[in-house]
Amino acid sequence: MSGFSRRAAAALADPVRHENVRRFSERAHDHRSASVERVDFEALRDAGERIRSQSVAEMPALIDEFQANLERAGAIVHRAATGADAAAYVAEVVGRHGREVIKGKSMASEEIGLNERLAADGVDVVETDLGEFIVQVAGERPEHIIIPAIHKSRDDVRRLFEPLAGRPIGDEPADLTDFARAHLRERFLRAPVGITGVNFGVAETGTVVLVENEGNGRMCSGVPRVHIAVMGMERVVPRLADLATLLPLLIRSGTGQKITSYVSMIGGPRRGDEGDGPDELHVVILDNGRARVRETPYASVLRCIRCGACQNACPVYRHVGGTAYGWVYGGPIGAVLSPLLRPGEGLDELPQASSLCAACDDVCPVRIPLHDLLIGLRRDRATASAGAMERLAFRLWSLAWSRPWLYRLSTRAARAVVNTRGLTPVMQLPVIRRWARTRDLVGKR
Ligand code: SF4
Repeated sequence: MSGFSRRAAAALADPVRHENVRRFSERAHDHRSASVERVDFEALRDAGERIRSQSVAEMPALIDEFQANLERAGAIVHRAATGADAAAYVAEVVGRHGREVIKGKSMASEEIGLNERLAADGVDVVETDLGEFIVQVAGERPEHIIIPAIHKSRDDVRRLFEPLAGRPIGDEPADLTDFARAHLRERFLRAPVGITGVNFGVAETGTVVLVENEGNGRMCSGVPRVHIAVMGMERVVPRLADLATLLPLLIRSGTGQKITSYVSMIGGPRRGDEGDGPDELHVVILDNGRARVRETPYASVLRCIRCGACQNACPVYRHVGGTAYGWVYGGPIGAVLSPLLRPGEGLDELPQASSLCAACDDVCPVRIPLHDLLIGLRRDRATASAGAMERLAFRLWSLAWSRPWLYRLSTRAARAVVNTRGLTPVMQLPVIRRWARTRDLVGKR
């Protein structure tokens, strides 16, 4: 059994978890559908595709411009070639300031194993996004890009929070959020360092953009003395005006809202006469395989703005959830991005985890051709792993089936040898039995 099959089977063995993922991803998909009908979303998608294609095409120059503008504003920029480099830099900055960190939602920091790296140094990291906080208390990983605790019911959350509270708390949303708010408040006020992700980095102005609904991102970036923002290098966009297109695309696709409760635009650390903001702003620009992917036929995947819409639309994701994909990114975006960022690490099978229904293509706000990318990755894998005999067999098969008379002859011959159980003896041959287990070439009688 492959790694994905094993993890998917484990996810499906928990009916409550399965039902929660299905119900909440369908609900998010419905919210998105209703939201995009209220605007000319196709025109927005065209504009978004253009902006993000430009961002990927001009990425090196845009990153230079973004860095220069940030440094002019007093920020410290670190370019990290690898996840380990990024995590080490953050750990070094944190180590200079204390042992407590508050953290906003950041898939890039999940990607580099930042919490584990900081914990190894004895740093106490608290996730402050409610969904991230829930999965942290549960000792799990985020199940969804923007709804990390999508698999948890209210009762699951109550059972996780009560030992922390040391008292019974209800399972109404207000009870649960009241507890989380009170629990986190002290940490917001005390921690010397806040870490966040970055939704967009604007090259023209050196602006770090954060999009969120809970205010925790603004607290993590504005209250502590030091703010560290971890940004995947593909998040750079050319102009401030591009946000007028990208914010509605991201927000309507992600949550179905017109605009999130908080959109923070950070232009550097606190200046002398300002009352708020950190004394130090560090921006870590993470490569971790992105520059390499940019040079491949799969570069369009770097257009991704991490809205999660493809996850909500995907019938496979709706069944198995995010952790079945074996790394931080689940669903169609994970099935494409993970094997590209981590080749040869057991994730190459993920493009098979798709029905190829192309529902992901239909919803992607920046028109990433996920369906084509999945097929391309499957083709690459098959080409790399096929032996000479297999390649010859498929070439002959392709040759035969591209001629109608040979196609008819071969299927008639196959039907002639179907046995009483509806299986051709040829399908029982050891070499193709596994392949045939889930495929029926000639139809059952
Ligand atoms: S691939 Fe498209 S739909 Fe999926 S998360 Fe990225 S931007 Fe959203």
